[in-house]
Amino acid sequence: MPDSADAVLEGLDPEQREVATALQGPVCVLAGAGTGKTRAITHRIAYGVRAGILQPSSVLAVTFTNRAAGEMRGRLRQLGAAGVQARTFHSAALRQLQYFWPKAVGGSMPRLVDRKIQLVADAAAACRIRLDRGELRDVTAEIEWSKVTQTVPADYPPAIAKAGRDAPRDPAEIAQIYNVYEDLKRDRSVIDFEDVLLLTVAILQDRHDIADQVRSQYQHFVVDEYQDVSPLQQRLLELWLGDRDNLCVVGDASQTIYSFTGATPDHLLDFRTRHPGATVVKLVRDYRSTPQVVHLANGLLAQARGRAADHRLELVSQREAGPEPVYTEYTDEPAEAEGAARRIRELMDSGVPAAEIAILFRTNAQSETYEQALADAGVPYQLRGAERFFDRPEVRKAGIALRGAARFGGNDSLLDDAPDLPSQVRAVLSGEGWTTQPPAGSGAVRERWESLAALVNLAQDFATARPDATLADLVAELDERANAQHAPTVQGVTLASLHSAKGLEWDVVFLVGVAEGMMPITYAKTDEQIEEERRLLYVGVTRARRYLHVSWALTRAPGGRPNRRPSRFLDGLRPGSAATAGRTAAVGSGGVVRGFTSRPDAAPRRTQRTPARCRVCGRTLTDAGEMKLMRCEGCPSDMDEGLYERLREWRGIQARLSGQ
Ligand code: ATP
Ligand code: MG
Repeated sequence: MPDSADAVLEGLDPEQREVATALQGPVCVLAGAGTGKTRAITHRIAYGVRAGILQPSSVLAVTFTNRAAGEMRGRLRQLGAAGVQARTFHSAALRQLQYFWPKAVGGSMPRLVDRKIQLVADAAAACRIRLDRGELRDVTAEIEWSKVTQTVPADYPPAIAKAGRDAPRDPAEIAQIYNVYEDLKRDRSVIDFEDVLLLTVAILQDRHDIADQVRSQYQHFVVDEYQDVSPLQQRLLELWLGDRDNLCVVGDASQTIYSFTGATPDHLLDFRTRHPGATVVKLVRDYRSTPQVVHLANGLLAQARGRAADHRLELVSQREAGPEPVYTEYTDEPAEAEGAARRIRELMDSGVPAAEIAILFRTNAQSETYEQALADAGVPYQLRGAERFFDRPEVRKAGIALRGAARFGGNDSLLDDAPDLPSQVRAVLSGEGWTTQPPAGSGAVRERWESLAALVNLAQDFATARPDATLADLVAELDERANAQHAPTVQGVTLASLHSAKGLEWDVVFLVGVAEGMMPITYAKTDEQIEEERRLLYVGVTRARRYLHVSWALTRAPGGRPNRRPSRFLDGLRPGSAATAGRTAAVGSGGVVRGFTSRPDAAPRRTQRTPARCRVCGRTLTDAGEMKLMRCEGCPSDMDEGLYERLREWRGIQARLSGQ
């Protein structure tokens, strides 16, 4: 922990220090990826707290994901500034809503809807509109968009026309389903994710006493990833602030990737207009990525168009030179996944920690192929965005019931009969329909039961460790664990969609599926949608600290007719593309590698093996040593430079550590 407030500023460059020390009034940081925005605001809060200028409990830091919030809390603790609220908009609003509901509305807060899609399906059925699963998801997304843009059902058709947004079906029908969906929620006494923000906004707007209470609690606001704030989140932020202006926002318009959900960089880009006296700081030094990665990122931005692009900032890498990005073309997707898995295995075998490697893709549907390929290669992995224990609906529901029981005593007669902690938990859960005996079979019902049984076991362990613990202590413990589980894990290779990778970084990044139809994705039609796809690729590229591997497949399944080409966004940037033909050496690229194929006539892909070929000259390999390397001994490896350099670095670190 730094030993003074000034020591917190060490390790920041002059512009970052300016951000960290401007503790009064509005501050706006406009900066590119990897320039230390998140670091600057974290140190800013820590500096303010350590200098005695900010009360930890009076600061609300808003981040985009639970993981980012968890990381920020951890970092603040290390810097000696524990106790600051670092939350997502949703979790901050949910907390306030739960707390103020009895006073503002009366009774207890309605529960969060478990299966929103089902509710939308019910609404569609009530309107006699048939939707398949895909359509259901699309209509649900439209309802979500309407809510975050504060559009009521009747206004949906003109609103999407104005926003230039494609409706997945007749807008009048969607408006009708949306209307009935809202009624159904009311009838069933449930609220959805967006309602959490809407209701908090409504309460803060209508109840000045409650708004005053919130405002007296929070004096300073910091918002990360501000380019992706939705109109509804912006409204909430304004209500939290009231007529004060102690607000620091950081963002990068070139990383706006959530416009389809109603987010807009306008709030970031118009900040100076709305706050004429704002301190505006620009950061361009990129501390994350090598010059080679930054070169590609700048190249992508140079071709961008539109308002966000008008505000682009050219990044300047502060790191030593590293390997060139590698571009690989595969015949089909399984071959691409196998190629990535094989390379990852090589990296891991040579000492690269799995936690330093990520595979990033455009759509979650792509993950399955990679999960299988990694499993086949014996590579451990974790899927970001998949449901963890504390995110499971039944665990969330149980948490709400336990919280209610801790606060209000729950079903009193039950708790009276259950003097110690695990029995109290069982009693509360049985009120939610939980039985002590497991249900027969192995389906979803059983899985839900197992989750709740695990919760009871957790209560048992907690009670053993702390015999005097109350239900309220257990609830606090569960909250703590839920937050901790959002903290970074260190076991496996990360599989993540580009959307869920924002703000994160890895030494090695495999950007896969960088083909037309995937990036930009087929349904991106308007110029603005295409630009957002380009920004998504920019986000992907800038996740890599050092080694970047970009790949695409010419067709989806083995044996298919090649019908894809590399993403247009790489034109002029990757070697061999039209605009760079003949100047490969000038851009110094690592070269396009061809020759990874899976045989069209092979057995089903889970058992199918790509013939081992040299990745450089394409010769079929039989020697075990060469097969492990995936190249003839005499051929240079396209990975040598990066791999061995990185390896030397790690070995050096290990040697130093073991020498200490
Ligand atoms: P993104 O746009 O992706 O969210 P960011 O601008 O928030 O990126 P950070 O994640 O804060 O950037 O920082 C990127 C990396 O650079 C981190 O590993 C961080 O620790 C490091 N870094 C930032 N500033 C400095 C600095 N002044 N000196 C050394 N390393 C730094
Ligand atoms: Mg960041």
